[in-house]
Amino acid sequence: MQSFEDFKISKQLQYAITDLGYEKPTPIQVKAFPVISSGKDVVGIAQTGTGKTFAYMLPILQGLKFSKEKHPRVLILVPTRELVVQTVDEIKKFSKYINNRVIGVFGGTNINTQKAEVALGQDIIVATPGRLYDLVVSRALQLKSIKRLVIDEVDVMLDLGFRFQLSNIFDLLPQRRQNIMFSATMTDDVNLLISNFFKVAKKISIAVSGTPLENISQSCYAVTNFYTKVNLLVHLLADNDKYHKVLVFVSNKRSADLLFNAIQEFYKDEACVIHSNKTQNYRLRSINQFDKGEKRVLVTTDVMARGLDLKEISHVINFDTPIFPENYMHRIGRTGRAENEGHSFLFFTDKEVDYKNAIERLMKMEIKQLLIPDSVEISKQLTYDEQPKIKERNNPLKLPAESEIGASFHEKSEKNSKTNQGGSYQRKIKAKYKKPKTRGDKNYNKRNKR
Ligand code: AMP
Repeated sequence: MQSFEDFKISKQLQYAITDLGYEKPTPIQVKAFPVISSGKDVVGIAQTGTGKTFAYMLPILQGLKFSKEKHPRVLILVPTRELVVQTVDEIKKFSKYINNRVIGVFGGTNINTQKAEVALGQDIIVATPGRLYDLVVSRALQLKSIKRLVIDEVDVMLDLGFRFQLSNIFDLLPQRRQNIMFSATMTDDVNLLISNFFKVAKKISIAVSGTPLENISQSCYAVTNFYTKVNLLVHLLADNDKYHKVLVFVSNKRSADLLFNAIQEFYKDEACVIHSNKTQNYRLRSINQFDKGEKRVLVTTDVMARGLDLKEISHVINFDTPIFPENYMHRIGRTGRAENEGHSFLFFTDKEVDYKNAIERLMKMEIKQLLIPDSVEISKQLTYDEQPKIKERNNPLKLPAESEIGASFHEKSEKNSKTNQGGSYQRKIKAKYKKPKTRGDKNYNKRNKR
């Protein structure tokens, strides 16, 4: 299917597409349309800029018949308020000739105004999870008519700690519904969410090109452990001129902090770090400093790095080997942009060899292996995760399973994937009154006294 006509969509949608000037569907739109139209659960792997919003909206709008139903039939969850606004704008553009009702709801704004808007009756709600939950528990919004649930940017959602809110919302939704999920990267957390909550979901992804850009030179090093990787990186960074803008990828926040501190010991004030536990201001400052060349090394997790438009990266260092080979393609694509020559290195331990092989299979090529220079010290020091664990029965000091899963790629263990549920006081109040105590609706308890 190469043209919008092949989708057999309504005239109203066709007119909107013509007005928008879209000539043909993007690859993710071509793949998403038949699957989403079929009603199956779908997991789409696509980044912003691929036309993914229209990819899920086109079949949804096509299937959404006019109705006077008060309660919304489509729910779209996104991680940030900016994305709520952007998505609502897009939907309005696509719906130019359709009579439908769309609103966006997000925290940090007056909840009463949003309650009034919801009360008018809506077809599509675009929301951040927290605010949506508040609206539902305060009974301003009912989800019983939801037929289609979209969760966009799931990777960011989970990285920001929304897992708990998401599963709360799943509990409030009707069992019979279609789940549509989009994520730019596959992570352990995303995988877990899919397997826990989705029925056999159909996976669609725009083929992350397995063919690496020709102007990126790729090499790899077999390295025994984390601190030897640090020594190797420190060794490479000694060449200031060559390694002038270095993006270092690690797969979790803990490793990011550990690595950042280690680099700082050798190259004070030359590195910065971003991950989702850092404040927005801190992240913006780091990115700015790196982009302007005030810092020459940026340590980042996969999820945080995407969406960043970083220019003229001299080297991408894969400090650990991504479990999902697509992530490697995304990572190295950050260098060698627009005619410039780029370089990437992959550091892998014995435990990561399988992941490296998967990457090579995807690319249908081997990554050239280099020998670690003699001057790089092989460290005996092990990180907490690398230390062998002695299993003792009934050991009162027994540590959680996280420590047993080996190297540092697992962002969160089951135990640690719990999110903050608010103070115990809030929880008690919620259990008693079936809603969190919020400032926005002081009269709720008065009204509901039995
Ligand atoms: P998204 O990936 O949803 O953030 O979309 C990126 C941009 O591509 C948006 O500005 C869309 O309006 C635009 N877009 C979506 N579909 C198409 C298409 N088929 N042809 C051209 N542009 C499109």
